[in-house]
Amino acid sequence: MSHYDIAIIGAGPAGTACALALRESGLRVALVDKSTFPRDKTCGDAIPGPALKVLRKLLPDTDEIFDQFTEKQRVQSSSVHLRNIKPIYVNWVTKAYNSPRLDFDNFLLDLVKKYTETNIYEGEKIYKVEQSSHHKSGGFKPSTFVIEGKNIHLTCDLIIGCDGANSIVSRSFSVDFQENIKNSFAVRAYYAGVNCAANDNRFYLLDELPKGYFWIFPVGKNVYNVGLGVLTNQIKGKKIDVKDAFHDIVKQNPDIRAVLQGAELLDKVKGFRLPLWSRRQPISGAQMMLAGDAAYLVDPLQGHGIDKAMQSGVLAAEQAISCFEKGNFSATFMRDYDEKVYTQIGKELGRNFRLMQWVSGYPRMVKLLARIGGNERVKQLGQRLFYRKKKK
Ligand SMILES: Cc1cc2nc3c(=O)[nH]c(=O)nc-3n(C[C@H](O)[C@H](O)[C@H](O)COP(=O)(O)OP(=O)(O)OC[C@H]3O[C@@H](n4cnc5c(N)ncnc54)[C@H](O)[C@@H]3O)c2cc1C
Repeated sequence: MSHYDIAIIGAGPAGTACALALRESGLRVALVDKSTFPRDKTCGDAIPGPALKVLRKLLPDTDEIFDQFTEKQRVQSSSVHLRNIKPIYVNWVTKAYNSPRLDFDNFLLDLVKKYTETNIYEGEKIYKVEQSSHHKSGGFKPSTFVIEGKNIHLTCDLIIGCDGANSIVSRSFSVDFQENIKNSFAVRAYYAGVNCAANDNRFYLLDELPKGYFWIFPVGKNVYNVGLGVLTNQIKGKKIDVKDAFHDIVKQNPDIRAVLQGAELLDKVKGFRLPLWSRRQPISGAQMMLAGDAAYLVDPLQGHGIDKAMQSGVLAAEQAISCFEKGNFSATFMRDYDEKVYTQIGKELGRNFRLMQWVSGYPRMVKLLARIGGNERVKQLGQRLFYRKKKK
């Protein structure tokens, strides 16, 4: 049985960022994932700008490394489409990319392999996490974690759950970390030969499903990630199957049908849950922390979670280093981590949650604003006011 200072469960964006942030800590780190990489992850594949910002802080030559990574598509704008209203375009000043998660997550794990001493266990599903009664002498470490899978048996002093929306780490504690979580459910499929620009991320706000949106994101090589996300409270008890809704929209929505006409569906439509941040809830305990989707850090407005996963993975690594420096692993000390996640990530997500509720609650108002906002004269007036304010 191997013993580690830290075991990170899950090698997605949260787990890999956490391992990279621990690279100069001198701590013995294990990173365990049930999949063997490259592995797919159901996603829209839009890599938010802040995700690369996190990488730049971890590895100074990120831009060079990322330039050499070919499985990506540069995106220069996002556009919002509403029926019978002129699309609204937002042009990106900073570089933004889409990349299939099969490739992007493998790229991140390769960085961990190249730049850290982490012991990586791939293809090992963890099904049991237990705090042993074995007491360590001295310090504040009350016990050791025992982590078990079919072929794996590890112990560690500190565990970081980066194992996604259905986190086994989160479910292994008496505190119900997943209580009161608001969820969204989304499906996606890959298409070739879609009739839209290869550098624009399209969002469609739908009359038929006001608490959701449809997207078409180019991921390179003439392939597009096409998906539909809805709030689960919209489908609860209403017998809406999101996959069926997706197929219906593709067939029946005139704007989407026009763009997908003649396009080839490349694989099955796949779906997964997105745990949205709605309000502050505990994400740590004695000797443990949760990061990324396991800590329900998906942006409720845009459905982004890769950047928040990486940011929280780094914050968890920083807290872990503090724990070993101070020899303090208590639940009280761990609250510093909750506080940092709240101030650096949660507050913004809380605002977006309220905005999302407003957008989905008042679809007519959104249409009216889009109509007014799309009007050239209103746009010019807005720009003039904005620049005058800035000059002052
Ligand atoms: C349809 C859909 C579209 C989305 N679109 C976007 C988007 O365009 N942009 C964006 O930023 N976000 C998007 N998201 C959200 C994004 O996918 C997540 O927020 C992000 O993947 C979170 O990263 P993570 O590292 O926390 O978890 P994950 O990426 O889920 O990684 C968790 C890892 O843990 C491993 N694991 C799980 N259980 C175990 C176990 N028991 N033992 C060992 N290993 C385990 C898994 O194999 C996995 O590799 C989307 C989500 C969905 C469902």
